[in-house]
Amino acid sequence: MKKLDTICVHTARPFDPVTGAISTPIYQSATFRHPRLGESTGFDYSRAINPTRSVLEETIALLEGAKYGLAFATGMGAISCVAKLFNQGDHIIVSEDLYGGTYRLLEGYYAKYGVEFGFIDTSDFAKLSASLKPNTKALFIETPSNPMMKITDIAACAKLIHDRNGILIVDNTFLTPYFQNPIALGADIVLHSASKYLSGHNDTVAGLIAHSRDDLDFELREAQKSEGASLSALDSWLVLRGIKTLSVRMERHQSNGAAIAKWLSAHPKIERVFYCGFTPHPQSRGSAGMVSFYLKDPAMAPKVLERLKLILFAESLGGVESLITYPLVQTHGAIPEAMRLSAGVNDRLLRLSIGIEDKDDLIADLNQALAP
Ligand SMILES: *Cc1c(COP(=O)(O)O)cnc(C)c1O
Repeated sequence: MKKLDTICVHTARPFDPVTGAISTPIYQSATFRHPRLGESTGFDYSRAINPTRSVLEETIALLEGAKYGLAFATGMGAISCVAKLFNQGDHIIVSEDLYGGTYRLLEGYYAKYGVEFGFIDTSDFAKLSASLKPNTKALFIETPSNPMMKITDIAACAKLIHDRNGILIVDNTFLTPYFQNPIALGADIVLHSASKYLSGHNDTVAGLIAHSRDDLDFELREAQKSEGASLSALDSWLVLRGIKTLSVRMERHQSNGAAIAKWLSAHPKIERVFYCGFTPHPQSRGSAGMVSFYLKDPAMAPKVLERLKLILFAESLGGVESLITYPLVQTHGAIPEAMRLSAGVNDRLLRLSIGIEDKDDLIADLNQALAP
């Protein structure tokens, strides 16, 4: 079994078997000719299957230690596909501190078709166990969570939900398979917004699923084909290209993230820093570059956003460029106030996605933005 860094570089297909091309060819074709009636090359129409996308799908499966991979036009497309596994009357427990778009999709759309969602702090295992209902069919967790970096125990969740034949779904966007492998810990389905660390350059949006459930693969692929949010050949290639450098980027995101979390913790204008590297959990091997913090004074927030020069005020995360967001109005704008505040997302919270620039330049930028 090859090591993760090697799989990243060589992907599932180190070279094209026909031409020897080292870079995966971009099969920019909507349709594929059949040799004769009843025969197929394995490809028919790109909404259902595309050779470039297939290499990406096999690659995410290898990276997550899974049997199957599926690639979507966005992370939300992947989450919507997984939501289609459930029926009217099913109950799903979801981490309350999560990506706002996931809340909007589940509560705004799937709830009206009769799927019931309970949003709770899944990092509190007693609370989680107490929230199970007779019709609970799945747990959907983000760990570390977005933006408060709370850790939910993946193995404990897997045991809890498997005891009642439910499934564990883990959004692994924040740590990527480089730092965390939920399937090895018992998760059934791993989700990614590949728009973030996996592609890594803020130049494409994409979503991925990895899983090893023979009994669910047909249903997931049918949903992907039927709904049509499958990833294009060109974007599949961009994600594959990003993955080649995942290991070196993640190491740099981590060392920069640690330096900045430490620097912010000592700053007099900062009340508290949220960073999963402060209290590493044994289920992951690293902490990436996500650092959230509370300002002491909420009036500072707009000033900081305006004054930062190098760190760009923009949504998203996981790219080589450092970004800052104001979760209250951006990523978490869709979440109702009570739930947002219960999760800790208030007017003093800012979230940094630390890129791979020189850390001293980033600290200098933060230092001038936090000046009186
Ligand atoms: C961005 C994000 C998503 C949504 O993915 P898109 O690619 O933007 O559709 C889902 N989960 C997490 C944790 C994210 O950060």
